[in-house]
Amino acid sequence: MAKIKTYDLICIGGGSAGFNAARVATALGKKVAVIDGAKQLGGLCILRGCMPSKTLIYIAEILHHAQQADKFGLKVTGARADMKAVHARKKRIIADFARYREQALTEGKFDLIRAYARFVDAHTVALSDGTRIRGKNFLIGTGSKVSIPPVPGLAETKSWTSDEVLDLDFIPKSVIVLGGGIVACELAQYLNRIGAEVTLIQRSEHILRDHSDEASSIVQRAFVDEGIALFAGTQIQAISSERHGVAVTFIHDGKKIVRRAAHLFNALGREPNTTNLDLATAGVKTMPDGQILINRWQQTNVPHIYAAGDCSGPVEVVHIAIAQGELAARHASGLKGLKPVDFSLLLNVVFTDPQLATIGLLESELLLRGTKYLSASYPFNDHGKSILMEANYGFVKVLAEPKRGRILGAEIVGKDAGELIHCFSTALAMRATVHDMLRAPWYHPTLAEIITYPLEEIADQLAR
Ligand SMILES: Cc1cc2nc3c(=O)[nH]c(=O)nc-3n(C[C@H](O)[C@H](O)[C@H](O)COP(=O)(O)OP(=O)(O)OC[C@H]3O[C@@H](n4cnc5c(N)ncnc54)[C@H](O)[C@@H]3O)c2cc1C
Repeated sequence: MAKIKTYDLICIGGGSAGFNAARVATALGKKVAVIDGAKQLGGLCILRGCMPSKTLIYIAEILHHAQQADKFGLKVTGARADMKAVHARKKRIIADFARYREQALTEGKFDLIRAYARFVDAHTVALSDGTRIRGKNFLIGTGSKVSIPPVPGLAETKSWTSDEVLDLDFIPKSVIVLGGGIVACELAQYLNRIGAEVTLIQRSEHILRDHSDEASSIVQRAFVDEGIALFAGTQIQAISSERHGVAVTFIHDGKKIVRRAAHLFNALGREPNTTNLDLATAGVKTMPDGQILINRWQQTNVPHIYAAGDCSGPVEVVHIAIAQGELAARHASGLKGLKPVDFSLLLNVVFTDPQLATIGLLESELLLRGTKYLSASYPFNDHGKSILMEANYGFVKVLAEPKRGRILGAEIVGKDAGELIHCFSTALAMRATVHDMLRAPWYHPTLAEIITYPLEEIADQLAR
């Protein structure tokens, strides 16, 4: 019998978490294997997540500006999406990104095994190609999959996931979007802007419910202004297929409403992709929904098995998956003096228009903890650069500690909030105060300059 190959670290999954763990462990001189069973390598971010969605959302934004050209005194007639060309461009861009990642995975620094893995004991995995390999350490980075919550009729009705929406080469006549989370909102606006008639049905009172009501209600208003039929605070009673599409029956404001559309988009969320790993065989504990339980070093309850990215959470974004994968690789390699991933610096961006971005502590968290803070905000519709850009939705809000004015967090909803929020990244990481930030130069007239107004207001509050 052939001897089973043994590695220092086996990464199950070659997405953002698995690839970066492998890269770091290899650089530390470890013998590493990455196992990935997908037909196409690249992971969710490159193939069906961040990159295709942002490619398409940016195109839809350009189209939106062209259709709004008369606001600027311009005549642009007949602006519309040529979906065959849009689709071809997206495919070309994504293929380039995927090729680049595939090169990095196959250049030979570590072994890449194209198969699915499942545990047969705490140190051995069986591969779908019939072989087995052993690891001193493991990093589980198997990502997430679309979940189908128990909504009456949903499982029986044909629906799109974000995968299908990101791969459209035609303009759908009408779409009902179920959900009000990030993916639902970003892609509902995309669909609406390319010309589909969009109905968004959301259970909680506000879309983007992980953000403040103040911020999410501004995105909600922008959606309604653009023509999205938005129903929040609903209770879905039935979903069914019809001859020309789907019907969704729900309660809204105490009334029973039926909406029909050609297509249904299930954007109700994702769940950890861990069911096929036979984790129990290795003794690894999960939450009921399959989320792998980890400590601050990314170790599961079986210390040589680590997990990172969407399969373990607690937040499903790429820079966290990368940071977690890298940390796990360093910890498994025995490095000392490490620091856990710092969630007090958590950065979040929603790529709607207006964008919504937060960093650090949210006001709701400060209130919950009973932490004292100072806050100040400033609206975009009173700021020179945004007025000349017709970018009037939203505000910048800054939260600071009340003694010295150390920045605790910031929330921006408005034009390019996802870029502007980075003005706070270094400041938060370096524990800067509002005075430190005000010592920096701010060019006029820029969107970024708006940040100085709440900073100055907090400086005034501190001086009183
Ligand atoms: C539409 C959409 C838009 C998004 N936009 C953003 C954004 O703008 N910014 C952001 O930060 N995040 C965004 N995300 C989230 C982001 O894409 C994920 O958080 C991130 O890609 C997760 O990385 P991962 O390494 O955990 O998993 P993945 O990248 O999904 O990698 C998992 C890998 O594991 C492999 N695998 C699974 N099971 C096995 C097995 N048993 N054996 C071997 N291999 C296996 C899979 O083939 C896959 O390649 C978006 C997500 C979606 C759906």
